[in-house]
Amino acid sequence: MKNRNKLSRSLVKNYIFFSITVGVLVIAFSLLFNFRLIYMLGTDSLSEIQASDIVRPNIVDIPTANIELLEGWVEILDEDLQIIDVKGNKVDSPTVTYTERQLNQLFYDQDDNPYHISLAPFVTNEGQTLYCLIKIPKENLRHSFAITSKAKETTHIFWGVLIETVITFSLLFIVSVYIYSRWTASRITNPLHQIVEGIKHVASGHYSKRIDFKGSYELKQIQEHFNVMADKLEKTEREKRELAESKQRMLVDISHDLKTPITTIQGYVEALQRGLIQDEEKKQNTLNLIHNKARLVTSLIEDVFDLSKLESPDYPFTTEVQDITEFMRELSAHFYMSFEDKQFNFHYEIPASELLVSFNNKLLFRSLSNLLSNALNHNQSGTEVQLKLMEGADHVYIHIADDGIGISEDNRIKVFEAFYRGDQSRKSDGGTGLGLTISKTIIDLHKGLIHLDSSQRNTLFRITLPK
Ligand code: ATP
Ligand code: MG
Repeated sequence: MKNRNKLSRSLVKNYIFFSITVGVLVIAFSLLFNFRLIYMLGTDSLSEIQASDIVRPNIVDIPTANIELLEGWVEILDEDLQIIDVKGNKVDSPTVTYTERQLNQLFYDQDDNPYHISLAPFVTNEGQTLYCLIKIPKENLRHSFAITSKAKETTHIFWGVLIETVITFSLLFIVSVYIYSRWTASRITNPLHQIVEGIKHVASGHYSKRIDFKGSYELKQIQEHFNVMADKLEKTEREKRELAESKQRMLVDISHDLKTPITTIQGYVEALQRGLIQDEEKKQNTLNLIHNKARLVTSLIEDVFDLSKLESPDYPFTTEVQDITEFMRELSAHFYMSFEDKQFNFHYEIPASELLVSFNNKLLFRSLSNLLSNALNHNQSGTEVQLKLMEGADHVYIHIADDGIGISEDNRIKVFEAFYRGDQSRKSDGGTGLGLTISKTIIDLHKGLIHLDSSQRNTLFRITLPK
């Protein structure tokens, strides 16, 4: 939560960054301005004009404007102390060459000297060592501050430097504002652009599009919700397609399963009508076959009808709190004789004490009957069938197991699908393939679970029902 990169926070960060940039530019501006001014004028304070500040490798570049303003001048001496250039108006003795003594004198008698003196050696671009000697009437230096201010205001050097520096920094400022605004905008517009693209995809019915960008917390929230929405839409779309496909498959299965027995009935009836079957016993057998086929058609229609009723959201499903042990005993009794007749070994384990559970008696009976009928119909005599009821903390567990032919791994996932029948069952043309689908739908209505564990010779249906 703490590390959320909020848009507001990131904007604040940007503004701080921008302010720092502006601050740095202003400081750099004033430093550069002063530096350039000092370079052009030789010094920023006339009272401290030193020869070492104004020396330049090119004599022409030596700035003397301030010195001249104070009626001073600059003498350039060569190694032999001969004056080779004078900048400004030299008004003292017309010396052409100094002796060392004369030069030293200038410094020793500083107090008596009417001039401010400063001397500095420097090397020219050509590698020649020269001396720069400044002389300014001390009288004028005393008023230097006033003169300096005046000079700075009026001299065109000042304005030139100022304008140049202002232009340079204006350009720098504009460039930095441009970069900053592009950068800030891109942090918002890039994610927005992706979001718009995502919405366009979804609007055109393509739900596979997901968006992924680096951005602030608020934009990330939009991204997260968009992706969740796209997931849901994609899932719904897939389910819709699967439902349409399964409906289509169901229609094909129903019509096929109805057509086969009806065609057979038609054939037998025609044979009887044309008098092709004369023998009384054969006639009886044919009528029995017609009856069986007609029963199959009826049970298929009934199962389809029941299943669609159970799956309907308006189905009036009701439960009643009752003793499930009693119910299970009734179920066992109902099947006992059938298992005996077909020589199955049928065992049941049901707790002796009362166990109250909320369930729909008729529907649960049907659901479990389908499982027991399967054990009976799909296996050979001698098969052992077990029915078990167990109590858990919040649930009851029902196990229906047999050690018959088992259900192959491939078929295990399909058995709960409508119209699915194992190869053997399909050949024998016995069931409708809706038995387990109806069983599962009923357990679902009870908010329970049904699982199939099966190996080559064992089938175990595990049912969990909430109490
Ligand atoms: P009906 O709709 O009449 O029940 P059915 O029994 O063929 O027809 P389901 O009950 O849905 O349909 O069962 C689907 C298939 O699962 C069966 O055809 C069968 O191949 C297989 N099956 C189910 N239970 C068992 C079992 N106990 N042992 C072996 N195979 C089984
Ligand atoms: Mg069945």
